[in-house]
Amino acid sequence: MILVMFGPPGAGKGTQAKLLVESRGLVQLSTGDMLRAAVAAGTELGKQAKAIMDSGGLVDDATMLGIISDRMEEPDCANGVILDGFPRTVAQAEGLDALLDGKGLKIDHVIELTVDDDALFQRIETRIAETPVEERRADDNAETLKKRLGVYHDQTKPILPYYEKQGLLRQIDGMLPIDDVTQAIGELLG
Ligand code: AMP
Repeated sequence: MILVMFGPPGAGKGTQAKLLVESRGLVQLSTGDMLRAAVAAGTELGKQAKAIMDSGGLVDDATMLGIISDRMEEPDCANGVILDGFPRTVAQAEGLDALLDGKGLKIDHVIELTVDDDALFQRIETRIAETPVEERRADDNAETLKKRLGVYHDQTKPILPYYEKQGLLRQIDGMLPIDDVTQAIGELLG
């Protein structure tokens, strides 16, 4: 099973992905988490990615495809994966299809969590207020969120017609309470 969790920053992709890890034994592949780990470890990738992430921009497509390609080679991915935060550009979506094609795999569902921008600002503000300073993400602030939302609308949302054409796109109202979203995803996956 290969799932793509799609939606703007703060839509709840990571939350739902983690619940699916528990309920279905899938592996969560969060490119944001991978990049944050690289930053924390001080690797070359981390050094390059940090400034881009802090500003709310996107790390380049070739780098991201390389990261996902390497990660999917690992044996724990054999049972299925949830892609969380990837793909984020049409080029990444096309690269992912080529990568999967080479393995004889294909995407089963693309689940879009729809949330309007005002609600996202409110969520991020709550996330900031509830997280101790030392655990806060460097990119969790109103200014960077504005940039990240702009990037989402300009570069990530244009992927949707690509998946719609393939009949893969499923939309779920991400404004619903977490449990209701989880239930809707469960019904969709059967
Ligand atoms: P996230 O945790 O998914 O919100 O990602 C945090 C940041 O990591 C993003 O704002 C980007 O700077 C970077 N990032 C994560 N995933 C990708 C991706 N697929 N392509 C480019 N940049 C990414």
